[in-house]
Amino acid sequence: MALIVQKYGGTSVGSIERIRNVAERVAKFKMLGHQVVVVVSAMSGETNRLIALAKEIHKEPDPRELDVLVSTGEQVTIALLAMALKDLGLKARSFTGWQVPLRTDDVHTKARIEHIDDQAMRAALDSGHVVVVAGFQGVDAAGNITTLGRGGSDTTGVALAAALKADECQIYTDVDGVYTTDPRIVPEARRLPTITFEEMLELASLGSKVLQIRSVEFAGKYKVKLRVLSSFEDEGEGTLITFEDESMEQPIISGIAFNRDEAKLTVLGVPDKPGIAATILGAVADANIDVDMIVQNVGANNTTDFTFTVHRGEFKKAMEVLNRVKTEIGAREVSGDDKIAKVSLVGVGMRTHAGVASKMFRTLAAENINMQMISTSEIKISVVVEDKYMELAVRALHQAFDLDKAPAA
Ligand code: ADP
Ligand code: ASP
Ligand code: MG
Repeated sequence: MALIVQKYGGTSVGSIERIRNVAERVAKFKMLGHQVVVVVSAMSGETNRLIALAKEIHKEPDPRELDVLVSTGEQVTIALLAMALKDLGLKARSFTGWQVPLRTDDVHTKARIEHIDDQAMRAALDSGHVVVVAGFQGVDAAGNITTLGRGGSDTTGVALAAALKADECQIYTDVDGVYTTDPRIVPEARRLPTITFEEMLELASLGSKVLQIRSVEFAGKYKVKLRVLSSFEDEGEGTLITFEDESMEQPIISGIAFNRDEAKLTVLGVPDKPGIAATILGAVADANIDVDMIVQNVGANNTTDFTFTVHRGEFKKAMEVLNRVKTEIGAREVSGDDKIAKVSLVGVGMRTHAGVASKMFRTLAAENINMQMISTSEIKISVVVEDKYMELAVRALHQAFDLDKAPAA
């Protein structure tokens, strides 16, 4: 007998028929003698619908009340799934975040999980129930409802698996695993039977929305056996996230991630002296804005140009901050661009292979795509390009690195 946590995303519970399908899959695992905890998202489109309603009231809705509102999506699906399970003759009990309780910090709309009390869930499991938990939501120390950020049900699933020391955490979604890149953009993308934890962490942080990054962090920290699978197919191994070291031969590139979530800001003609970067980024940090890529170029007449990227939602705020510090640091000009995209190659094999960057740059040049910024780490290379070229860049790189072809055995 194993303890399995299964998480079903929005599309997988998007209609009554699909909720019944989920119930049937859960029933199969139950019949095999396993204990099952199911985490569900809101029905597809529901979280967006609720956020849009809030925005009709106010452009920037009160975060506490926004969490009260958006958490209702998952409350609907736990109840419906528990009903569907009972309809199949199984014992089932639904749990909202606070009923678990799943304790978080008090940062509304992007709370972090602090503690999960497994007692109530264990008692329900031991009495033969399927435990159905609302994803994405928790409760802070003062009893306020919190949510974990978009895509947060993945994190609920993995965190519950860690807390319950489950044998496996299965993430059921609308694709049958993790692909070399988003199959919606590149139809030739290939499912990866396994991917290393490090690579999955990079892909998630660089924009592959198949798993929320915090869920991957949790899996790494607590060594949760994590698998991504299709909720629409009965067969298939999906993709297993592996933790073994790189003693085996690894492909050089495993996947390509991309995102359009960032904007670029440049401070031009800054006097080139110590402390300038600290002053600029200090002011940005004081406004609670996270910075991603940073590039500094030496310009003419002892000045430099300083460029960095922020989340697109914070672009306006960051521009305001820069226009304020401009005079303080004696810069000539501040400019910004939110029509950018970041494209990243990820692969642990890069550690041992030279020439990946030059091949990436040649491929983009051959398509006449200009690179505005570049950043690298041991296992990734990211470039910023004009956003209208993003899909072209991803397709060209996918082909150039033979990602559509199965690696040689
Ligand atoms: P869910 O609602 O089940 O959480 P998501 O929409 O959050 O599903 O995540 C699944 C989607 O992630 C897929 O439909 C796919 O378009 C997208 N995706 C992006 N990158 C990848 C990738 N490398 N492999 C698989 N899917 C990806
Ligand atoms: N319903 C939430 C969202 O749409 C959480 C999730 O689906 O994982 O972001
Ligand atoms: Mg998701």
